[in-house]
Amino acid sequence: MAGARGSLSQINNPLPKKELFDIPSGIVYLDGNSLGPPLRQSSRQAVEVINDEWGKDLIQAWNSANWMSMPRIVGDQIAPIIGAQPGSVAMGDTLSIKAYQALAATLELRPDRRVILSDSGNFPTDLYIAQGLIDTLDRGHKLLTPSPEDVMDMINDDVAVVYLTHVDYRTGRLHDMGAITERAHRHGAVTIWDLAHSAGAVQLAVEETRTEFAVGCTYKYLNGGPGAPAFIYIRQDIVNSIRPALSGWLGHRDPFAMAPQYDPARSTERFRIGTPPVVQFKLLHFALKIWDQISMSDIREASTRLCEQFIQEVEGRCPSLELVSPRNALNRGSQVSFESNDAYSIIQALTDQGVIGDFREPNILRFGIAPLYLDENDIVRAAQTMESVMNSECWREDRYQVKKQVT
Ligand SMILES: *Cc1c(COP(=O)(O)O)cnc(C)c1O
Repeated sequence: MAGARGSLSQINNPLPKKELFDIPSGIVYLDGNSLGPPLRQSSRQAVEVINDEWGKDLIQAWNSANWMSMPRIVGDQIAPIIGAQPGSVAMGDTLSIKAYQALAATLELRPDRRVILSDSGNFPTDLYIAQGLIDTLDRGHKLLTPSPEDVMDMINDDVAVVYLTHVDYRTGRLHDMGAITERAHRHGAVTIWDLAHSAGAVQLAVEETRTEFAVGCTYKYLNGGPGAPAFIYIRQDIVNSIRPALSGWLGHRDPFAMAPQYDPARSTERFRIGTPPVVQFKLLHFALKIWDQISMSDIREASTRLCEQFIQEVEGRCPSLELVSPRNALNRGSQVSFESNDAYSIIQALTDQGVIGDFREPNILRFGIAPLYLDENDIVRAAQTMESVMNSECWREDRYQVKKQVT
């Protein structure tokens, strides 16, 4: 009977998919925006690759187990999640590297312009990548980082590229991707959207916005696991005019011709660089199958409902914590952040009591709300635990004051 009930609930209430995930009992996991949890089947997938593919077929597994095609297969799984057509997403490397490839390409597309327009809320690696590229090129490019609210007004005819993260990693504030992209294009600039906190969290229509590039990682809301490959979307009408700055052999038109001269693939595949991490790809491929069965609008609806519940519960129980995420769900991604001078210690104490969120400099408590494996009961339990930690002031204990290497 359990099976019948399971299938019925799948029809009436497609979320959550909690039973598919392997979250330790007693934990409320509000950190899937940093590292999604494993699926119950993830370890079996990894063991199969090692024992049945690598172990039995050795090097032939590149063909027999489709290893070499995994980046394309997985790219086609990512495409519908971000609102893009099959064949427009290349996979591999890390988000930092994909951001570098995209940024270098945009500067080539606008050789007469010198301004890279980002914002002060952008994730450090995005800014560091720009700074490094500017130094390498040494052609007088400038990186501007106004406050997120001022970006729109700073788009003018000097801007080569508008280079933004869609959902702010600290506050969860959501940029208007359509409006900003449109204004950028009106001024002759190109755009790169970092979707690290968007892919699998909010509805996206990347292709419809006409953005030239979008990049993202797959270990956050897409549950690919630590070290999972990143993605890069390239608008198809420009892809074949771009010569990737990181021109590796697997982006070559015919890698196994072993030609001495680089000649890029006539497709999105030119953004591949080197050998794909196969075990990671197989884990990600498996984790992405979940998305075949759910719509992003269902996810967004559930995320909005749970975020509002969380805000209400926490504000009611913990008046000293100040909401720093936008109150209006339309301006917020799938996370809720609060401010407190004691944020680091509070997060440590909460973690000890089974409620896992994370701390972000300088004073932010950040909670990712991933509706695939969270429900109303988890939200209430998290808020109750926060209330007890705040009221007991147990976060003051010495052991919660020492910063760990990864926060
Ligand atoms: C998580 C995150 C990254 C991480 O980049 P990696 O290269 O995968 O380490 C980059 N940008 C943003 C906005 C992020 O949230």
